[in-house]
Amino acid sequence: MATKPKLSVYWAASCGGCEIAVANLHERLLDVEAAFDFVFCPCLLDTKKQDVEAMADGSIAVTLFNGAIRTEENLEMARLLRRKSQVLIAFGACAAQGGIPGLSNVSTAADHLRTIYLQGPTLDNPEGTIPRRQTVVDEGVLALPGLLDQVSPLADVVEVDYTIPGCPPESHQIWAVVDAVIRGVALPPPGSVLGAGASTVCDECPRTRGDKRIDQLRRTWEIDPDPDRCLLEQGVVCVGLATRGGCGALCPQVQAPCIGCYGPPEGVTDQGGKMVSALGSMIDIEPLKGLPEAEIVARIDAIFDAIPDYAGCFYKFGLPGSSLKAAVAARVGVSAQDDQ
Ligand code: SF4
Repeated sequence: MATKPKLSVYWAASCGGCEIAVANLHERLLDVEAAFDFVFCPCLLDTKKQDVEAMADGSIAVTLFNGAIRTEENLEMARLLRRKSQVLIAFGACAAQGGIPGLSNVSTAADHLRTIYLQGPTLDNPEGTIPRRQTVVDEGVLALPGLLDQVSPLADVVEVDYTIPGCPPESHQIWAVVDAVIRGVALPPPGSVLGAGASTVCDECPRTRGDKRIDQLRRTWEIDPDPDRCLLEQGVVCVGLATRGGCGALCPQVQAPCIGCYGPPEGVTDQGGKMVSALGSMIDIEPLKGLPEAEIVARIDAIFDAIPDYAGCFYKFGLPGSSLKAAVAARVGVSAQDDQ
């Protein structure tokens, strides 16, 4: 019997949603199983790291690597799976751009531990215990992987062949990629984004667009939006115009703004920067003409006060992959290169 190509799926700093998206392939999983030898997947199989280490370099045909690089273990596994895999795919928003774990870059790892284990209002931790790299118990020494100073996308630590974006990627897009591999369809050049569109969510959105002038920004709970009109034009910050399409504009179709999980579209390097510049050009300044400068600034500030968290709004899925990574690292007093 011919040997099947090997497939691995690994999760680093992630929520498990990418694995759920794989599970959502439903009966197509049988096709995956028929075509591949599923050799490594911590949430499904009991394969150990030593088993992967024992495999020949380049012996895994495809690795879907989801999750950001947050810990020393994530970094070690990224390097190991890079060595063992012919094709390494950054799978999902966290691996592609840092994802939601990447928002933690606005603070240091030490601050996170203090906040989570010492300052939470519902904590019961009278001895002030914080997780440590090593803990000695009667049975021996327990070890935890250390936190890196900053969260990074996969491509910042190893060479990545392809990216499948999304939080999580849509299962039909995963299938399109897997099916292409199964059928031997030539993949696009390395570095390409697979399973998603090149253009924006706006281009897939059925809502009508008209006058893009905004005099007020609104949180989603402050408005019951017109179901047919562009959300952004109704003052809801929808980042569809700065986000790669391919999802079918699922969120705007159910009255929820696009939050940017597919990352920037082709030709855009900084998703947040693109969105900020678009919003800046949409603010209606006609009613402000003739007012003193201080009054204009105060009114525009008041409009933007509706955004409580700029990083979480404009860089929800991509702060570590954005042009702000080094600046954010410098602001919290760490080097963006320290960990690599
Ligand atoms: Fe649709 Fe949002 Fe784009 Fe408006 S901004 S067209 S609601 S995706």
